[in-house]
Amino acid sequence: MLAEDLPHGTIRFGCQLLSVELDHFTNFPTLLLSDGRKLKAKILIGCDGASSVVAEFLKIKPKKVFPACAVRALTYYPNSHGFAPEFVRTHGNNAVCGRSIINENLVFWFILLPGYPQDSELESDIFKNPERIKQMALEKTSSFPKETIEMIKDCDMTSLSLTHLWYRPAWEILLGTFRKGTVTVAGDSMHVMGPFLGQGGSAAMEDAIALARCLAHKIHGEIGLEGKEGPRKEVEEAMELYVKERRMRLVRLSAQAYVTGLMLGSASMIRKLLLLALIIVLFQDPLHHTRYDCGRL
Ligand SMILES: Cc1cc2nc3c(=O)[nH]c(=O)nc-3n(C[C@H](O)[C@H](O)[C@H](O)COP(=O)(O)OP(=O)(O)OC[C@H]3O[C@@H](n4cnc5c(N)ncnc54)[C@H](O)[C@@H]3O)c2cc1C
Repeated sequence: MLAEDLPHGTIRFGCQLLSVELDHFTNFPTLLLSDGRKLKAKILIGCDGASSVVAEFLKIKPKKVFPACAVRALTYYPNSHGFAPEFVRTHGNNAVCGRSIINENLVFWFILLPGYPQDSELESDIFKNPERIKQMALEKTSSFPKETIEMIKDCDMTSLSLTHLWYRPAWEILLGTFRKGTVTVAGDSMHVMGPFLGQGGSAAMEDAIALARCLAHKIHGEIGLEGKEGPRKEVEEAMELYVKERRMRLVRLSAQAYVTGLMLGSASMIRKLLLLALIIVLFQDPLHHTRYDCGRL
């Protein structure tokens, strides 16, 4: 199959990326797609989530599994839910429920279940069984407010899922290589973290702004595929700046999300208090991360 199969500027929707390789002549990335075709790219920004093919190409170490699971779903309220437009987190029975409204009728929610499921037989069955996921969610939240229980009972079964939680350790973000040539990563592919601070998606948006700003400042004009220097060099410099700008912000966020996850999942009160003390020592103000300003475009 020839790389010229897809002309430059072609957009492919609903097509999986299988692998990435560098073109020997131009050193630009070539993408192998699931429909068998190849696509030559001038710039490749991998925002393909926690199981990123682009991260694999960059030889970023594989993500790690956090000892917790999360149930996620949407609930539709035909006559409006009446909730205030705020993110609400409820704790109890060693579980955490988060609720965020999407519009007047639609609500997104999740339940974090520390250490669950540990049993491999249970694992293989329950992940594909929405009825069992719902039943488990209801058991875990039986002591929660009535509106939470109703929200779970009335959820859209097609949106219901149980997922493992993944993370990239902070030291791997500190030391990782997030750029090769004109290829880089953003979002979960770069820094997947447990949702204990609710910052993964926000950090992905910060990445997008920082990367767009770095590229806009450095690139003026067309990027030639054939050129070894010129615009290509500027793209590489822009991506390097982007990685540099994001690194320490992401190291801190990932470390804080990890320790917060350990604290929330801890059954022992002494361990909880020790981890809380560690958070205060390391991060002083536990809400400091919410006041981060990623700048303007
Ligand atoms: C339970 C839970 C609660 C959360 N709560 C919050 C919260 O309150 N606030 C917050 O900011 N964040 C939250 N997050 C984190 C947030 O969901 C993620 O950080 C965010 O979705 C990352 O966005 P992304 O675009 O990098 O990756 P994704 O959202 O995973 O998107 C990746 C996309 O790439 C596509 N893709 C993957 N592989 C390929 C391939 N090979 N080829 C082509 N396409 C591919 C996928 O289909 C997908 O569309 C939560 C996460 C969980 C699990």
